[in-house]
Amino acid sequence: MIYLDANATSPVDPAVLEAMLPFLREQYANPAASYAAGRRVRRAIEQARAQVAALLGARAGEITFTSGGTEAINAVHASVRALWPEKPVLIITGTEHAAVLESARRWQAQGGEVVTAPVHPNGRVDLTALRSLLRPGVTALISIMWANNETGVLAPMHEIVALAHAAGALVHTDAVQAAGKIHLDVKATPVDFLSMSGHKMHAPKGIGALYISQRARFAPLLVGGGQESERRSGTENVPGIVALGKAAELARQHLEDGTKSKIKALRDRFEHLVHAALPGMHIHGSPAHRLSTTSSFCLPDIDAAGMLILLDQAGIACSAGSACHTGALHASPALEAMGVSARDAACTLRFSFSRFNTKADAEAAAHAVIEAAHKMREAQGCDLAVLAH
Ligand code: PLP
Repeated sequence: MIYLDANATSPVDPAVLEAMLPFLREQYANPAASYAAGRRVRRAIEQARAQVAALLGARAGEITFTSGGTEAINAVHASVRALWPEKPVLIITGTEHAAVLESARRWQAQGGEVVTAPVHPNGRVDLTALRSLLRPGVTALISIMWANNETGVLAPMHEIVALAHAAGALVHTDAVQAAGKIHLDVKATPVDFLSMSGHKMHAPKGIGALYISQRARFAPLLVGGGQESERRSGTENVPGIVALGKAAELARQHLEDGTKSKIKALRDRFEHLVHAALPGMHIHGSPAHRLSTTSSFCLPDIDAAGMLILLDQAGIACSAGSACHTGALHASPALEAMGVSARDAACTLRFSFSRFNTKADAEAAAHAVIEAAHKMREAQGCDLAVLAH
């Protein structure tokens, strides 16, 4: 298999696995225990907290471990709604992940108001519209993702924070796809809350973290034993936490050592090969503000569902621009929000690369896409020249 679906989930780094294994074997003590074995586990958690904080430019005390991105996002929304009932408005965009969209739906169901800020066709939020939507004293929170899972589009987070704070609103960013892939610094870009997830950055599934700025108030979603400084009760997922810490440390190194440009070169080579053979290919998202790991494109009139089957047969793991819910393909709301037609969304494929991919992967995948596209056109009885405009 050639795995090009790292935005869905990423392979666990062997060094991350090594780091967590002792905490599944001999280091099983409860970190709350007062004896030496418990204190050792507690130290490992605090080391992981410092590692995650370092990736974000945060203080260790600003990091709370969660079960993943979804929990972190839900916790922030619930907290802001509970602490500022007099400010009913949450602003999101239409390109958010389901975790934000559904949590926003709950915000509304509980009497709040959700406003969807428009995005430009390049996937970036319309800042002029955002400014006009912000209502001082009324808008509690802006929740906008830092990097989009489908297109890789990066948000103008600095500008979003400046606009929000000027209007007295808080900012949460879903940085699940950004963390470890781009340089994040919560001091330079002072978001109030940031959500991240282990399994998108070579740690296992079921672990994540929430950055809560020391400036911000927070009411926990989970109450109980008071773990995580009363911000997230429940006995800690120690192996997961240690894994996330190690993954954050590795990500920080790889942001400095040229790995990012190597992945970009693979992604660009892949796109170049596909485009050279199928010039009708249309890449979604702002070229200048896009994760260097992600390639989302439409091959006009070539059904992505069929492509996925052919690519699967060729051993390529990737995904489509439409999500499969209960067996039916639905156009991606994110692409729809960018003004992509339902037809083009149904002809959209997403490939997401990681540091575990090679040039051979990129080239084999490009050739598989080209071959599959030819087969699809033949099967549809159409002329490939349609793609060559
Ligand atoms: N936000 C984004 C942008 C994502 O891509 C995902 C995962 O698909 C999530 C949130 C949810 O994260 P988790 O799977 O850790 O709950």
